[in-house]
Amino acid sequence: MHELSIVGNIIEIAENEARKALAERITELEMDIGTVSGIELDALNFAFESVKPKTMLKNAEIKINIIQAKAVCSDCRHVFETENVYTLCPVCDSFKTEIIQGKEIKIKSILVD
Ligand SMILES: [Zn+2]
Repeated sequence: MHELSIVGNIIEIAENEARKALAERITELEMDIGTVSGIELDALNFAFESVKPKTMLKNAEIKINIIQAKAVCSDCRHVFETENVYTLCPVCDSFKTEIIQGKEIKIKSILVD
């Protein structure tokens, strides 16, 4: 499962940050996940629940912010919401569109104790 390795990386980063702050545990982890990041939220939550008990995030609350994907058209500069990585511009039908947000898989903040 793709999400399991992502969660492994996230926990590693979070634990490194917590150690730098000389903390013993992580109480909250907040993440930004884009709607076209390729992440399945159910799988992500499942992965956290299965891995958490052996880590500093044992009792941590996992908060996930969903970031709605947006694209910009290179031809007419129109910015629009999208559910797909490849999409036509709804204004001019150009295929030269580029995702400007929604691919995020990142840690926003960590609270430690
Ligand atoms: Zn356009």
